[in-house]
Amino acid sequence: ETCLAKETIQTTVSNFQMLYPDFVFNLDDDDLDHSVQIKMYRNHFEQILIILMDNAVKYSRDRKEVIISASKSYQSVDVMIQDFGEGISEEEIEKVFNRFYRVDKARARHTGGNGLGLSIAQQLIENYHGTINVKSHVDLGTAFYLSIPYVTEKTTN
Ligand code: ATP
Repeated sequence: ETCLAKETIQTTVSNFQMLYPDFVFNLDDDDLDHSVQIKMYRNHFEQILIILMDNAVKYSRDRKEVIISASKSYQSVDVMIQDFGEGISEEEIEKVFNRFYRVDKARARHTGGNGLGLSIAQQLIENYHGTINVKSHVDLGTAFYLSIPYVTEKTTN
């Protein structure tokens, strides 16, 4: 149940680029070595990335740009997915991981969804002892931060 982090991220990003050619997906993964494996089933990692990138696209406005960065820290691979869209207010941000929660239910909106994506992403990542966090500013954009334990190399001696 491990997967190559860099390859999985690159595949997911290039799939999104094909689906949304008018968006710019800016991937910064130079600091992440190809050989780094995270302790997560590949399909699950992909699903988390898809949920976050799908939201980034859905909640962007004029500025159709998504920044994805990936790097290795002390015990984990850290991934950030940032958009420059509508953002989330302070009083709503703590609720976005709740099941069926959607920020502006009352307002008419064109984006579909059930409010399940983020709760699924959070559940998945916590099953693997990873973390998911969010920072956002209304009208400026949103960044989600993932942290997933990686497989440490076994040394023979
Ligand atoms: P779905 O079930 O299809 O994922 P959803 O996008 O409504 O639908 P979540 O992914 O759980 O559900 O997100 C919950 C709410 O958090 C969204 O309705 C939206 O209001 C807010 N949200 C999530 N991601 C972003 C983002 N990148 N920018 C702004 N708001 C966001």
